[in-house]
Amino acid sequence: MSAPDAANALIACHECDFVQRHVAVPPGATVRCRRCNGVIYRHPATDFDHAIAWSLTGLILLVLANVFPVLHLAVGGHHTDASLFSGAQALYRSGQPGVATLVVGILIVAPLLLFLLQMGVLLPLRSARLPPHFGVAMRLLSRLDHWIMFDVFMLAVIVAVVKLSSLAEVTPGPGLWAFLVLMLAATASAMSYDRHVLWERYAELAGEPGGDGKGDGPDAGMAAGAPGRASALASGLVACSECGLLCQWHPVAVGGHARCPRCATPLHPRKTNSLSRTWALLLAGYVLFIPANLLPITITSSLVGVQADTIMSGVLYFWHEGAYDLAIIIFTASIFVPLAKLLALTVLAWSAQCRSTWEPLQRTRLYRMVEFVGKWSMLDVFVVAMLARLVQFSSLASIEPGPGAIAFASVVVITMFGALSFDPRLLWDPLEKDRHSGEKT
Ligand SMILES: [Zn+2]
Ligand SMILES: [Zn+2]
Repeated sequence: MSAPDAANALIACHECDFVQRHVAVPPGATVRCRRCNGVIYRHPATDFDHAIAWSLTGLILLVLANVFPVLHLAVGGHHTDASLFSGAQALYRSGQPGVATLVVGILIVAPLLLFLLQMGVLLPLRSARLPPHFGVAMRLLSRLDHWIMFDVFMLAVIVAVVKLSSLAEVTPGPGLWAFLVLMLAATASAMSYDRHVLWERYAELAGEPGGDGKGDGPDAGMAAGAPGRASALASGLVACSECGLLCQWHPVAVGGHARCPRCATPLHPRKTNSLSRTWALLLAGYVLFIPANLLPITITSSLVGVQADTIMSGVLYFWHEGAYDLAIIIFTASIFVPLAKLLALTVLAWSAQCRSTWEPLQRTRLYRMVEFVGKWSMLDVFVVAMLARLVQFSSLASIEPGPGAIAFASVVVITMFGALSFDPRLLWDPLEKDRHSGEKT
């Protein structure tokens, strides 16, 4: 694994665009931005072998977790098992193909791709060969990061168990333990390598510009932007959004694209149309938040009758049953977090639009929080997936996802895309003295 050998190379923070020197750090250390304290790169304490081993473990566990049942349910002599896949099938059959696809996509397809891509990239690099389609693989890997949600799924299984415990006897199956270790494997494999290090290794092997960590542009740009004083854009530089290489920025003629010399990604000083895309997604999020909370998310039919539950009535159910902790968790994950996320993103987008210079550091922290908590709102969607399968079999009751489920899942996905569309560097741009236009429109 290559530590950056060019101590004087420059690097720009991807959160605030601040230019600073690329320093070599010992294994296990993390380099943080001097201005916003965001993580710029890590030098993992372990080598590629660890990451490969964890990815392989993850692949095997992913198969086991889907072959074996996650929960086992017994009621009045009837027995049934629920696996994740059968849960998704049950969702599909009860007229929710969108939610079923989302569940399979997030809990099966995304991790499968993640582990395969990690191995596809790390195995050749380890033996000093160039991985095929490295750029595409790295681009996909950075996108997939946000959609790995085993931790949320584990919490969803706990909620489902408590919800069913009054109806039937629920015991964990081997699949649940596989998911638990899978959650650890996914985290461990991601922590065992750093994308920055992979790009350096790749460039070194390919002998491409930037292989020595210097690039062909940064040195020329140093005169304009000495580290520690300005953002990359104010210094006439732009950091590649994929590989992080700092390049000279010269806008090209209409229709053309300046491309990164290392990975050929089109260069944009800021995410393209960041604010308009964020506003559009926010608006959609607010509109869908209404049906997501008013329409029933589950419809329970039993001998007593049919009961339609919204998210709020689900919270109240747990509260009345005395499961206060679960009531609070579901309220936080399903109502408070999505709403707080919508409001926080609105404040961020609005302040960037007005070119506010108020507390950029605090606003960057708020942005990080929005990015971090987003996935936990998927909790109720996963709960419905497990319940739909488990309860369907019994003649006593059936639980089906209601129309609120798809609206709710859409809110979660849309706000996640909203957070990804927002460019936190826009929060710092108004601080630059020469006032470059922050957003490329
Ligand atoms: Zn920064
Ligand atoms: Zn690049």
